Amino acid sequence: MIIDKNSYQKQRRALLWKIEKNKLLLASVLGLIGLLVNLYPIHLFANIQLILGNVSYVIVAILFGPWYALYTALITVTGLMIAWDSAHVYLLFGVEALCLGFARRRDIYALYASFGFWIFIGMPLFYLYVFLFSELPSSHIAFIILKQGINGLVYASIGSMLVILTPSFWQFKSKIKDTQRRTFNGQLTYTFTLVITIALLLAALLFNNQFIERQQTLLYQNIENSADHLGLSTQAYLDSHTRAIKNAAAWLSLNQHSTAEEQILLSQLHDNYPGFITMLLADRDGTIIGASPASLLPSNEVQGKQINIQDRNYFIQAFINQRTFTSPVFQGKGFGHDPIVAISAPIYRADTPHHPIGIIEGSLDLNEFKAIDNANTDSNNQSIVLIDKNKRIIYASDNLGLAPLSLFSYSLPSKNYITPFPMLNITQNDNVAPEFVYASVTLQNDWQLFVLNPFRPLVELVEGMYLATFAILFVALSITIYLSRVISSRLTLPLENIANKFSTSSESARIEYAVDDDSPLEIYTLFQRLQQSKSQLISYQLELEEKVAIRTLELEHANCKLKALAEKDPLTGLYNRRYAEDKFPAIQELCQRSDEVIAIALLDLDKFKFINDTYGHDGGDLTLKRIAELLRQEFKRDSDIIVRYGGEEFLLIMPLCNALKIEHHLESFRRKLENIIIKGKQPFQVTTSIGAVIGNGTFSTSLEEWVKQADTNLYQAKETGRNKLVFTTLKD
Ligand code: GH3
Ligand code: MG
Ligand code: MG
Repeated sequence: MIIDKNSYQKQRRALLWKIEKNKLLLASVLGLIGLLVNLYPIHLFANIQLILGNVSYVIVAILFGPWYALYTALITVTGLMIAWDSAHVYLLFGVEALCLGFARRRDIYALYASFGFWIFIGMPLFYLYVFLFSELPSSHIAFIILKQGINGLVYASIGSMLVILTPSFWQFKSKIKDTQRRTFNGQLTYTFTLVITIALLLAALLFNNQFIERQQTLLYQNIENSADHLGLSTQAYLDSHTRAIKNAAAWLSLNQHSTAEEQILLSQLHDNYPGFITMLLADRDGTIIGASPASLLPSNEVQGKQINIQDRNYFIQAFINQRTFTSPVFQGKGFGHDPIVAISAPIYRADTPHHPIGIIEGSLDLNEFKAIDNANTDSNNQSIVLIDKNKRIIYASDNLGLAPLSLFSYSLPSKNYITPFPMLNITQNDNVAPEFVYASVTLQNDWQLFVLNPFRPLVELVEGMYLATFAILFVALSITIYLSRVISSRLTLPLENIANKFSTSSESARIEYAVDDDSPLEIYTLFQRLQQSKSQLISYQLELEEKVAIRTLELEHANCKLKALAEKDPLTGLYNRRYAEDKFPAIQELCQRSDEVIAIALLDLDKFKFINDTYGHDGGDLTLKRIAELLRQEFKRDSDIIVRYGGEEFLLIMPLCNALKIEHHLESFRRKLENIIIKGKQPFQVTTSIGAVIGNGTFSTSLEEWVKQADTNLYQAKETGRNKLVFTTLKD
């Protein structure tokens, strides 16, 4: 026995282990699938990714509970760890898997558990992580956390849906089962919630994404257009002013002019080209001999001080290298200390076409770029940066806060941000969140024009959409819960009412309106069927009751008959011997108590065998009936009991009688009988011998004893010639 039990337990343990092994296998396979899926997250916008691999541990949590779910999660999340290079995923998603598993054990649906997890644990935990370990700007954190929560809901609902849709696939004996039966309302609500969550979130993600992509394309097209357009404007501005300088130089080279004439010409030129902030003429020594505005020209004689530009690059390039030159940006030091760009060209004499006699120079008004910038009405968001080939800033929009002349430095943001356009950071170069989307064009003189559009508004747009999605989801789910309550009550309430109505007895079924107008057809039909069968049942019951009543009556009749049969002799209708024996004790007791007498008479027909032989059995029967009739006529007191005691023997029990009178009465009966003619086939007569006794009730309690005494007298009557009465009084 003991061995048997042990081996049984071993078998059982082996069976359990097998099931556990199966579970472990499935958890591992799902984990690996999840890992693969997580290696390639779906990119939605910038650094937003849709993680779907986590569906694996949602399924395992629903099927096998927390510990298997944790195991699967650790495998699955390794995919994210590889993709993101961030170990926090193990903690965050590990805790999520455990929560889902424990919630499952308490019959909480996975999606509800996911809601609870993200609101109370996931988002706070993630916030803490991002706050402590990442350099994300605080404006980004809330959004990223919300995004993570929504992602959690997406894969929790997909996991739940998969389990519900393919129940036969997950056939495990030891999978977790609901501890309590769920209400229809609960089931309906969850189904609705699932469908709405999946549909809404996926649709929102998809459409938001499409919208954002369009938005991004538009934005970038806009920037590129702006860059082209502004580039052209800038180029045109430069070209026209360069041409102006070049033409002026050519014109001045044609004829000889006095200094005063040259000054007038310069002022006229400057009037035509207000894009120059200042203009000057210098002689071969680099001494300024003409300037516009003219007021800038110091009166040499008074101050005794002349401005010499011999060392300036624009002088050297124009005078020595003899070409029209556009300078990089530099700090002016002649007429002012503003940053300037100088355009210069050499001036010749007709007789010395290869030896310049001086230069003409115009300093570009850098504010003109501001005008170009301001004229860019395409977008208020756009800013521009113009840099020379030395990467020094010629012009930058005011809002950028970049000083002219300074070096333009920028960094490219992290690779996590995947967008269809280039982005850069200017102010916070180490920030992982990109600041600007940009497009740039290079001008003919190697200047570069950047058009920048802040990235944040785009992110805010996405944030707004996510928030709206979440809000819509929240409202939709509230409506869902309410709706499914209403719908399910249309089913459950009537069912409950119907159950009540039909379970109680018909009198107490007081719920008149088990179904109403809103009840579904199926319920209404059920109600009608039940009502039909109930009335059928009632009619059956009535029919049955009637039948039972009839049968009972018949049975009573039959019982009466049976009783009569048991008590009476069928031929004569007189009481039988058993009746006499049953009744006698009561009679005897009564007489004994009231000190009364009992008379017992035993009658035996004489030569009855002869009658039978002579007149047939029918004759004998007829005789017996005739005698019974006579006995009933003669002994008709209520207390008299007439009994057919045996074949042709009769017994009379006559309590409460008078001794003399009874002897006389018996004698008169004997005589009456001998005179009766029995009308058989032939008429004949019959006589009887009678042995009778009378005694106090106290004589004996046994009828047998009384009959024995009467029989003695009967014997004597027979012996002494028959057709006689022998009557004696018994002594106690
Ligand atoms: P005795 O004067 O000595 O009494 O003679 P007996 O012929 O009457 O006596 P015995 O006891 O020998 O015969 C009784 C006969 O009564 C025998 C039986 O056939 C007849 N008998 C008994 N019961 C019935 C009955 O119910 N119907 C008919 N027809 N005959 C019966
Ligand atoms: Mg007899
Ligand atoms: Mg007889």
